[in-house]
Amino acid sequence: MTVINQLIRQDLLDIQAYHSSRESQTEKVWMDMNELPWDFSFRIAPQAINRYPERNPEQLMLQLAEFYQVKQQQLALTRGSDDGADALIRLCCTPFKDEVMIFPPTFSMYAISAKLQGAQVIEVPLLAEQQFALDIDSVMQRITPETKIIFVCTPNNPTGNSVAKEDIIAICNKVANQAIVVVDEAYIEFSPHASMATLVDDYPNLVVLRTLSKAFGLAGIRCGIVIAQPAFIQYLQAVIPPFPFAKFTLDAALCLTTQESIIELKKHINIILEQKAQLQQKLATFPFIEKIYASDANFLLIKSQSAKQIFQYCIENGICLRNFNEKSVLKDFLRITVGIQEQNDKLLSLFNRIGD
Ligand code: PMP
Repeated sequence: MTVINQLIRQDLLDIQAYHSSRESQTEKVWMDMNELPWDFSFRIAPQAINRYPERNPEQLMLQLAEFYQVKQQQLALTRGSDDGADALIRLCCTPFKDEVMIFPPTFSMYAISAKLQGAQVIEVPLLAEQQFALDIDSVMQRITPETKIIFVCTPNNPTGNSVAKEDIIAICNKVANQAIVVVDEAYIEFSPHASMATLVDDYPNLVVLRTLSKAFGLAGIRCGIVIAQPAFIQYLQAVIPPFPFAKFTLDAALCLTTQESIIELKKHINIILEQKAQLQQKLATFPFIEKIYASDANFLLIKSQSAKQIFQYCIENGICLRNFNEKSVLKDFLRITVGIQEQNDKLLSLFNRIGD
């Protein structure tokens, strides 16, 4: 054992950092992290920065509450929804006692944050043979008195499918007095399904995660939003660091969530949805792609026995897709973030060359 291994918590010896396909920042067409393809460069006005930024700037909270159709007291801001999920686990899970339930394959940070808190991760896999549908019967059976958080990602990353509202409500009712149900709606703006945010009034254990990183195209500013009943939000505020955001983040969020920005947002979503439909149709013509999964998000999951070679060929030719590690159930899959026409065409022309 090296000295370093003795310095860190022994239960974290096998912890793995978040995996990304993006190993370098050399200029590429990025189709790996489900960001928007446009850069809404934001010019920062000269301003005083000797004072701490406001915790919950009133106008920003007002704009967000309006967009999410909730009350301001039902919102907390976090440094991306990554931090939101982490804060929820820290607030609700007693270390080395409680359990966090997840439905893999899903967003990997839930398990990483749970492990950091010493919470046990209970996996109820999605049904791969049924388009990765939720196995609701197993979910209900695997709930124990130690279950304190159930993460439901809808649309799910990386499979793209949604979880039925009725199933989420059934889970909320089942664990009403013991656990929170965290509905991660990072991609909901691309989806035809309604957000659960407006239901937090009815379910004290329902918590919704939203983010400005995806449809708003603001992954670079790191702003996530937790939506829950006001009494729960008050507890959460004690877990979130006092000044999580640089002033620049708050200013950018304020400028880019106005009513005019929401009009733009809707235009961008429509372009992405059109492009997704076209890309999906064209991808279906390649014999080396076994399956393209229906997606309610801004990405497509594809299955191919040649996933590894396709990923490599694309990287060498300037396009970064999202691959999955060798041990993952998704090792024969790739996730493609929908880009603008030019980027999607470039990808298709590479696929054409692979097919030759
Ligand atoms: N939830 C899901 C489902 C995601 O895919 C991501 C980003 N990949 C996040 C949360 C985190 O988003 P952010 O921290 O940028 O808000």
